[in-house]
Amino acid sequence: MNTYATHSVCKTLIALFTALNMFTNYVSFFTGGNDRGSAGDINGTTIVITLFVSDVEYGWSVKNNEDIERIDNVNEYLSIAGDYLEEQVSNYGGEAEFITDFITHEDLAYYVRVDRNMENVEFERDYDANDEVMWSNIDECIDVDYLKEKYQADNAVFLAVFNTDVNNPAITCTRNWYPGMESDNEIVFLYYIDYGMVNPPAVYAHEILHTFSAPDLYTTNPEFGITQGTIIGIQNKYPNDIMLTCSDLGTGDYVYDRITNEITEITASYIGLI
Ligand SMILES: [Zn+2]
Repeated sequence: MNTYATHSVCKTLIALFTALNMFTNYVSFFTGGNDRGSAGDINGTTIVITLFVSDVEYGWSVKNNEDIERIDNVNEYLSIAGDYLEEQVSNYGGEAEFITDFITHEDLAYYVRVDRNMENVEFERDYDANDEVMWSNIDECIDVDYLKEKYQADNAVFLAVFNTDVNNPAITCTRNWYPGMESDNEIVFLYYIDYGMVNPPAVYAHEILHTFSAPDLYTTNPEFGITQGTIIGIQNKYPNDIMLTCSDLGTGDYVYDRITNEITEITASYIGLI
């Protein structure tokens, strides 16, 4: 998640509507597909499987009180994100259930040790190698079909969490499904601290939304029909969309006990709610 500072930009209403119409047409075309990886339709039940990843740079220790506190925070932020997604989906007449609590459900969290630097992601090939090492760990350690059956879940989302500090150069991101991807498993790479800040519940929800096909709204993306003009329109009409910003609109700060951003109709249309 790149945090985004909104600034006011003037744009005529006609230009805005033109941009948004184009966008909506593109969306209905895009969401026509069937298989969208391990996370498909946000309606239904989703399990979030959390992987606490120790790499060559940053590790987790259950003997360290600070780490235990962080693990508790991850569970809490996920719970806030899950409740938020359920409520936002219900605002559009949908019904979603998110099962995230790995303290109550201990088979929803795993410790994983990898022999590479997962924060050294300057080049595209490093992202690919990060995916591959996580996919092979998931295949080896986790019976995803069994868990989906057990929790009567339609979707599974993986959250890989890294115990980073303020020197971490990597940015939280999500590998969302695309046709031909070698694994169906969509992984959120959640760096506990990036940009020098602890990521708040809004970032967890934002990243989970990526796995349901929501694109970032702060940067151009030709694949999703998001041009510079579209972004200006979104900034004007939907300044609090969670795919545009994860900071509180009023203060510009992260909030840790709730989520104050919204799934506006633009993100709702991308994930098939409208
Ligand atoms: Zn994002």
